[in-house]
Amino acid sequence: MTKSEPPILLTPGPLTTSRPTREAMLRDWGSRDEDFIAMNARIRRRLVALAGGEGTHVCVPVQGSGTFAVEATIGTLLPRDGKALVLINGAYGTRITRMCDIMGRAYVTLEMPEDEPPVPEDVARVLNADTGITHVIAVHCETTSGILNPIRELAQTVAAHDRALIIDSMSAFGALPFSLADSPADAIVASANKCLEGVPGMSFAIIREQALEQAEGNAPVLCFDLHDQWRAMEANGQWRFTPPTHVIAALDAALAQHEAEGGIAGREARYRRNCTVLIEGMTEMGFQPYLSANLQAPIIITFLTPSDPNFVFDRFYNLLRDRGIVIYPGKLTQANSFRMGCIGALDESHMRRALDAVRAVMGEMEVSSGAPEATL
Ligand SMILES: *Cc1c(COP(=O)(O)O)cnc(C)c1O
Repeated sequence: MTKSEPPILLTPGPLTTSRPTREAMLRDWGSRDEDFIAMNARIRRRLVALAGGEGTHVCVPVQGSGTFAVEATIGTLLPRDGKALVLINGAYGTRITRMCDIMGRAYVTLEMPEDEPPVPEDVARVLNADTGITHVIAVHCETTSGILNPIRELAQTVAAHDRALIIDSMSAFGALPFSLADSPADAIVASANKCLEGVPGMSFAIIREQALEQAEGNAPVLCFDLHDQWRAMEANGQWRFTPPTHVIAALDAALAQHEAEGGIAGREARYRRNCTVLIEGMTEMGFQPYLSANLQAPIIITFLTPSDPNFVFDRFYNLLRDRGIVIYPGKLTQANSFRMGCIGALDESHMRRALDAVRAVMGEMEVSSGAPEATL
């Protein structure tokens, strides 16, 4: 890799973006310009349509990374006397409980191992037993392991028990099939820089309008008050405080490319192909995915650490980075592992380049197989 060539980012974000998306940031925008206001309206409309929420839901964007929008959504929609059931099977679920702790919102948890999805029947049982629960908070794709949680079944269970659902769909939105039409939810939260392939700096929630109307005064702080953000935006089409103009322009371009690729189905097909090529190539070298194939979302893959004593993760990481491939250190609490993402403006040719680099690095480290302990 030459100094000027950007690396291939095989991470859960920020991700590799396309040239047109980056080029969209080459001009400045006045935040009160008519064109800029129209661009915001277009983005918000497109995002609501992607969620299948036309006529019922509105898009409320917020400055900041994905976590900012998750915290803003929970703080805005979960009333001070409400109570959440947080479904946990990874670090992002756990992070939600920290938000509730800090905001002083009551909650209970239903926790699963990192390689098991939450079971709708278990959720039903908890909701039947505790009538104080007002909201369920679920993660769509738990990026910690890359596991796909059964969001439609969970949504239907929560709706059948007459509770509200908030979905953290950060690493799934725009690439995995989802529609509010058959997965009822008060809010689905995502950011610009994951499967939509925009750049980091803004995130958003698609919120049921009636739930938002009732949320006035819930938020514990001004900046994360999505009711206030929404009212202001409805009034004049502008953001309350300085908008991330270049990030918004990049998202506008990224959404046009998403549509040209065939929308969610087109993006999903490319990511599935990336995922298959990556898993097949890594498996040929002996590596073993942490998740069984039926639970694996085509977003990020966790591989178990090889048992060969010559395999030292930091060295593996650095040697791959020297070859222009950036992977992600494991974040799992239960298994020694590392992760490789397969999302971003990348196709199977990039996956093959990454596999070539892994093969070369294995040779350099004198690691004969990627096989983990258990399979030897
Ligand atoms: C990426 C991600 C987030 C938000 O992370 P940020 O670093 O704040 O952008 C939240 N939830 C899930 C499931 C994610 O994958």
